[in-house]
Amino acid sequence: MNKSINDAGKKARVDTSPKENKGFLPMSKKEMRAQGIDQCDFILVTGDAYVDHPSFGAAIVGRVLQARGFSVGIIAQPNWQENADFNQLGAPRLGFLVTAGNLDSMVNHFTVNKKRRREDVYAPGGQAGLRPDRATIVYCGKIRENFGEIPLIIGGIEASLRRFAHYDYWQEKVRRPILFDSRADLLVYGMGELAMIEIAEGLSAGIPVDQLTHIKGTAVISREAEAGDAVLLPTTEEVMADTQAYARATALIYQSNNAHDPRIYRQPTGNRYLQQNPPQPPLSQAEFDALYDLPFTYRWHPAYDQVGGVPGLEEVKFSITANRGCYGNCTFCALAIHQGKYVQMRSRDSIVREAGRMAKDPDFKGYIHD
Ligand code: SF4
Repeated sequence: MNKSINDAGKKARVDTSPKENKGFLPMSKKEMRAQGIDQCDFILVTGDAYVDHPSFGAAIVGRVLQARGFSVGIIAQPNWQENADFNQLGAPRLGFLVTAGNLDSMVNHFTVNKKRRREDVYAPGGQAGLRPDRATIVYCGKIRENFGEIPLIIGGIEASLRRFAHYDYWQEKVRRPILFDSRADLLVYGMGELAMIEIAEGLSAGIPVDQLTHIKGTAVISREAEAGDAVLLPTTEEVMADTQAYARATALIYQSNNAHDPRIYRQPTGNRYLQQNPPQPPLSQAEFDALYDLPFTYRWHPAYDQVGGVPGLEEVKFSITANRGCYGNCTFCALAIHQGKYVQMRSRDSIVREAGRMAKDPDFKGYIHD
């Protein structure tokens, strides 16, 4: 039976009931059929290989939606030069979800000296070149090309950190908010589980995506000039032309993503606005624990076995995430601006449970390294 009450006596936002492990999220029509899925509710397109581990954003969002009763298919590292990979699971019933992967695709591709990296630890066999530069924008373009005006939601670190006008080190210029370049409908910023559940339930209830404009933890493009007591940032055009305007915008952006700040932040861009809604409230400890009780296989998809798997799994296979968020807000660090300023902690029992699972792994050498 699903448990709907969490430890705080409120309706649980993350289902905390035990889950049967049905294997990997499907990556092909054959795997969909094996799981009795004719049409996926959502298709998640990711710039990383599919590793079914909670350190991989696509896996955690997929599992959270699955736990809410939605079917989710994964298209990992599609060939963006052609259409076939984007069509391999057919059209989703409710929408496409797009992430560049665990890293910004430009950070994934280039060293700080702007030399192209030879290895991609988030790709099978560590092979570089399996995702495009600016993957979020490229994937969204292919989805629009193939599926037209289907609901399209972007998230992950690339979308999250590029949600306002931002300096792009690789091009040495300020780029406009990524929603304008990607033509996606919604951007989920930060750790997206709760926002994604609200979006999924809204779409499932028949609400058009262009009416899902005020979900916490999301950003949208708005045409409306008025938005209550919204915080107005310098315009995108101002921050492109004037470093002082850029600095003022950055200071305001860094004060946002605060669970105790209920204000909307808006940045005029052309004749429209990038609107960042307030963040989702932090997860309760029971909700945070529940994420780690989802039925991950903790393995890369077997499709990658023949090339030796995905090297990025090695780094996290025997490490445990104990908390999220940071109040430090250091401007050189992505953590607070992505995960928020509120430190959320898993319970001791949940951490011990995960350590116990690791200890049963035949590769476990007796220590947890991080
Ligand atoms: S995690 Fe990041 S934001 Fe927090 S103190 Fe360290 S460097 Fe600063």
